[in-house]
Amino acid sequence: MSLDLDAIKARAEAAIDGPWIADDVYVTTESGDLLSDAPDAAATAVFIAHAREDVPALVAEVERLRQHAHMVRQLHQQSTLTQSPYCAGCGDAWPCMTIRLLDGEP
Ligand SMILES: [Zn+2]
Repeated sequence: MSLDLDAIKARAEAAIDGPWIADDVYVTTESGDLLSDAPDAAATAVFIAHAREDVPALVAEVERLRQHAHMVRQLHQQSTLTQSPYCAGCGDAWPCMTIRLLDGEP
């Protein structure tokens, strides 16, 4: 199943700003207003209705990407064979570019 991220983002942006509070069977804003009474209620209802499929699909995608990152880390591990650390996967100085990118470093 492919994710339509543009559609998910559009639904999220059109919905009422959060955070929201579940109050028994009602959902309110932090100020206590019912979401169903807000001017953007229809767009928020669409967002909520799609959440049943969107959230599990997004979680599955995060899990898939984490598994891929884990596999890449397994290929790019620090070698302990020499005094100067290097990547056993690509041979570059440790940490290699691949590991730095996975860690969010430039
Ligand atoms: Zn490497």
